[in-house]
Amino acid sequence: METGARDGARALLRILRDLPGELRAEELLAPHTTFRIGGRAFALFRPSSEDALAEAVVRARTHGFPWRMVGGGSKLLVPDRGFPGLILSTTGLRSWQEEEGLLRVGAGVSLARIARRGAWKLAGIPGTVGGAVAMNAGTRHGAIAEQVAWVRALLPTGRVHVFTPEECGFAYRDSLFRRLRLPVLAVGLRPYAPQDLAPLLVERAQSQPLGLPSAGCVFRNPSGGRSAGWLIDQCGLKGARVGDAVVSEHHANFICNLGRARASDVLELVDQVQDRVVTRFGVWLDLELEVVGE
Ligand SMILES: Cc1cc2nc3c(=O)[nH]c(=O)nc-3n(C[C@H](O)[C@H](O)[C@H](O)COP(=O)(O)OP(=O)(O)OC[C@H]3O[C@@H](n4cnc5c(N)ncnc54)[C@H](O)[C@@H]3O)c2cc1C
Repeated sequence: METGARDGARALLRILRDLPGELRAEELLAPHTTFRIGGRAFALFRPSSEDALAEAVVRARTHGFPWRMVGGGSKLLVPDRGFPGLILSTTGLRSWQEEEGLLRVGAGVSLARIARRGAWKLAGIPGTVGGAVAMNAGTRHGAIAEQVAWVRALLPTGRVHVFTPEECGFAYRDSLFRRLRLPVLAVGLRPYAPQDLAPLLVERAQSQPLGLPSAGCVFRNPSGGRSAGWLIDQCGLKGARVGDAVVSEHHANFICNLGRARASDVLELVDQVQDRVVTRFGVWLDLELEVVGE
């Protein structure tokens, strides 16, 4: 890392080291994402309590360090240059309670776990509950917003607020938490009756390229009924490749990492896809993928 980055890492270690959790300086972020792409952050902190997470956010702000929340890293592209600040991983927040017909779960609980306990519509989506709420993740059966009873999240003032479903600002693959970067700490979910997930998982394995690293759908489906995948496929872009980044033959809205893809390869491929689709159909494909730091 350059000197500035090393100084940043040292400063973050100094200001966060008394907080409970795991703190790593100059952490390579690629292994923290399903894309397996990206450079280093000044530091990564995995708090072991909500209070520690809240305090880390306050201290990062006070000292002027940019910070980002990361759950399972399944919707993220980390730039090759990394992230010049603090990554807050929620995977240490794994509280779990079932009470009065409600699942009360920490932001770092895996979606796979809640899918088995009554959130069957989300079966097969990787990542954490916090990331799913931020993204309003879902499948053709429904999205997580349908089951949210409340969300406990951190306001920019550092205060904790319990949001009602109406206050969450849920929209297609979007929420207030994503738009305003409010850290989700815990979520109350109304479970459906558990279902056999096997057929749902088989259906996904048939329609998605699960054998290669990716970050799920790269582009949002545009309004107007035609999916991003269909538009990309019609442009003959399946198999288009830059470096080790390739438009999946299996599902045209996935870009996969064949092994050594760089973020710059993915972004160049994104540009090519957007250019071709807008030229042919007059439709601009917005990114669903989140580029960390932008
Ligand atoms: C193979 C594959 C298949 C996929 N299929 C689907 C699918 O069918 N449907 C679907 O909707 N998505 C799908 N995805 C995308 C992804 O899994 C979801 O968006 C998931 O909900 C992201 O959760 P995460 O914990 O990995 O979030 P991350 O990728 O870590 O983060 C995503 C966003 O959420 C924010 N965030 C994360 N945690 C928190 C928190 N606690 N508080 C506030 N903000 C937070 C991050 O800052 C970032 O903005 C797929 C991805 C892959 C790799």
